[in-house]
Formats: sequence, structure tokens, C-alpha cells
Amino acid sequence: MAKASKTIKQTMQYPQQYAAWFSATQRLFNQVAAFYFEVIQAHEKVLSLSSQKALNALETLTHATDQNTHPVMPLDAIAPNIPSMFRRAAIHAALGSARLFSTTLKKWRGRKEKAEARKKRFTERPPVPPRTWNRSTTLYAGQWKERTETHILLKLWTGSCWSWVKVHLLSRDIPDGYEIGSPSLVRHGSGWHLHTPIEKTFTSPAKVVEQLTTRETRICAVDLNLDHHLAVCTIQNAEGSTLATKFIRGGKAVNGFRKKQLGRIARNRSKTGILAEGQQDNTALWAKIRHVDEQVAHLVSARIVQFAAQHGASILVFEHLGNLTPQKGKYSRRSNAKRAYWMKGRIFKYAKYKAWHEGIITSRVSPRNTSKECARCHGLIARYDAKHATEGYTPGTPLPFCPHCGMRGNADRNASLVIGQRLLARFQKHQKKHQEKPSTPRLLAAERDEKPSGVTISHDANSAKSPSTKRARRRGIGKGHGTAHEERAGMVAHLGSIPTQLRLFSE
Ligand SMILES: [Zn+2]
Repeated sequence: MAKASKTIKQTMQYPQQYAAWFSATQRLFNQVAAFYFEVIQAHEKVLSLSSQKALNALETLTHATDQNTHPVMPLDAIAPNIPSMFRRAAIHAALGSARLFSTTLKKWRGRKEKAEARKKRFTERPPVPPRTWNRSTTLYAGQWKERTETHILLKLWTGSCWSWVKVHLLSRDIPDGYEIGSPSLVRHGSGWHLHTPIEKTFTSPAKVVEQLTTRETRICAVDLNLDHHLAVCTIQNAEGSTLATKFIRGGKAVNGFRKKQLGRIARNRSKTGILAEGQQDNTALWAKIRHVDEQVAHLVSARIVQFAAQHGASILVFEHLGNLTPQKGKYSRRSNAKRAYWMKGRIFKYAKYKAWHEGIITSRVSPRNTSKECARCHGLIARYDAKHATEGYTPGTPLPFCPHCGMRGNADRNASLVIGQRLLARFQKHQKKHQEKPSTPRLLAAERDEKPSGVTISHDANSAKSPSTKRARRRGIGKGHGTAHEERAGMVAHLGSIPTQLRLFSE
């Protein structure tokens, strides 16, 4: 079974005095967590236990019951009558931090010993335990109840007593088919929000190689761009026929907006003179740029996944991101190119995670010449715009012309088709290899399929399991470059046998 998790963030509406209670609850939560962190430091053996056993041990150490009348380090010294579920949430927060601290300390000691053994100077400072605690309060079952689409009851510490309060929930509702985890109270500026982790379990989708053995399998190939068409998606079946195309526009508008803000920042900087190092200037303008980039990345990725799901595609294909090509010119131009490149990366990241929630897997292919190759005959194409002649390759121009087969159309759509064909070619190559050497232990798909990095639901267990996107990406890029040559050679050989339909703009 596969899992997909994410966090739903809801704005809360409440009478003004509740804000002070949210703060008081959070202060108490951190006080209790800090207390347990101390207890764990005094009884380090606790860390070798499982979470459940550690919890029991810590409660015996601190919590008075009929059987356990004199705990060693009573929690009551901090605050009396703390609800047990509040205490447990704080214990888990403390355990998480203590585990992290203990591993960092162990690693540091290891490095120190190594340096000493080699008689090298070791100047790295030891890690320090958290000096201040500023965790958001996690509410375990028992600290909240009667949750509906619009309301929830929360048990808060008012500073003098525990009290149930009802708050109004705004914005998105919990989607169907998800299990909800423990919500937390998160402060954003002066307002308080409710963050709820949710998780969905579904049958793991088959690997790319397994899926492509079926003719009915559909893939959605996506070409991401920095300019006009932010994304062009094509739906192709396992035999290579194109079934649908979608252009997602808006690149010009975002670029224009961003460039304008960056120009403003540059002008402000030239007015105020040299900046102090590490000081963030023009905070509001940067925030504006960031918000627009984020929002566009979310919108575009959502539309890609929506399009793929609508057409029943079960695999999403992108090309590897490639390197950022440095730009010449003004600050606003250089910076804009950099941010556009980052946004491309974010669109991929978000699309991958959103696709995973729909049970769609994501794969990536080599980016080598995807925009220079003809999707019909795989010769090199010319790219031009209305102003130029139909020869030569002018990067970024919208119109392709293939001198070998006469293909014309849209350059971004052509690139998207090539990306999809590359995945199919890889599969064909894999099958061929597999038939010749049936004992080959290395499955192509196992190396390449992207695992989802989704948001994790609990603080300790799951985070260790889910692979980091960064690592996956780095690994992927290395492989992608290494195999670029073979892939091209293999593809030309096999794709000649596939009739490729090229319907221009008629879909
Ligand atoms: Zn051609």
C-alpha cells in the first residue's frame, strides 16, 4: 500500500481574547516540552526505547498516580493538572528533539575522534541543546472535539484554567478519502491557524515498466518553459500516439511582473547605497515576488495534474531540470532568469506531489536536445519566429520547422512530444535488454521512478522513510546525463517503427 499525506491549513475566526489563550497554551506546551527535554537529558537511556516505552518511562519518572506516589522529577512542579493528552503531545515533541540532538552529538563526537586519531586540529563546535522552545501546540485527540466543516472545539489553557472554546474554521475543507491526524495551532503574524495533517492510503501504482506493457496506459509528457507557455502537456498512449495537448500560458505575465519588481529593488538599492552583509532589503517587494512565484507554481502544477487525471494518464513525464544558463545584462534580467528557473523546479516538485495524491507516478528523462529534435523523424529542427527566415536555430522562438520531414507546428509542443517519446524509448530499450538477458537484476524503473516526498504526518517515524526530493533529484540528474547518448541511439532505432500522429492544434 502506498501513502500520500499533506497538511491542510485553515484560518480560524475567534473572539479577540482567544488569541491570548492560544499564546498561553503554546507557552505552556513549550514549557512542558522543555521540562521533558531536561528529564531525557538526565535519563539518556530513555532514547534507546521505542516511542511507546519511552513515553511510559517518562510518565513514571514525572507523573504521580496511585501506584506511583513519588515520581523522581514531578511535572506538577511546572504546572498542576495538565491534561494527559497535552502532556503526551509535549513528551513526543521533546523526544523528537532529544533524538535529533543525540544523533547530531554522536556524529560530532565521531568526527572529533577521527580528527584526533589523525592528529588533526578539530575546531568544530559541539552542537548545543535548544535554548528556547517555540513549537506549535499539537492537539492530540482529547484536546479537540466535535470537528465539522466550519467549527471545532479546542481545549485551551487560559493562563488560569483549562477551558473548551469553539472556533470558526475558514478556507478549505478536509478532502474526501483522507484520514485526519492531530491538528496544531500555528501562529502567522498576529493570527492563529489550524494545521491538520491528513493521509490517504491507496494501492501502490505499478512501476513505469510494468505499466507500459499495457497498450491502454497513457502518459502525460510535460515540457516546462521559462517564457510564454509555462507548460505544454501532451497525452500519449503506450504506442506513441498523441491523444491530447494542453498549453498552460501565463509565463509572459509572471516574467513581466517579476522583472518590474526586481527593477524596483535594484533602483532602491542604488539609492540607499551598499548593503550591510546578510541584511535583507526591500522585504515587501521580495515577499511580493515570492508569493506570485509560489502561487503560479501551485496553479500550473495543479492544472498539469488535473489535465493528466482527466485523460486517464497514470504516468507524468518531465525532463531533468538541466543547469541554469547564466544571463547577461541588467540585474533585473539576470535575477529574473534565476527566479524563473527556480519556479520551473517548483512546478515540477509540486506536480510530482499532487500527482502522487492522484495515484499518478512521475518520471524524468534526459533533457538533451529535447527542444531541438523533431518529434516525427528525430532529425534536428530549425526554430524561428515570424520575423526570421525558416532556418537556423534561434532559441526561444515559437515555430519549429523540420527540414527532413517538413514538420511544422509549435516548438514547445514538439518538445513535450519528444519528452514522452523518450520515456517510451527507454521502456522499449529496457524490454529488449530484458529479453536478451532475462536474469538482469537491475530494473530500469526501480532506478528511475521518482518516489513521492510528500508532507509527513507524524514527527518521527515517517520522516525517516520518505526520501528527500533533493537527493532523488541529484541522483536522477547524474544518471540522466550519463545515459543521454545511449538513449538517443536506442530511440532512433525503435521509434521508426511507431507511427507517430502529429495533429497540429486540432486537439
Ligand atoms: Zn522531422
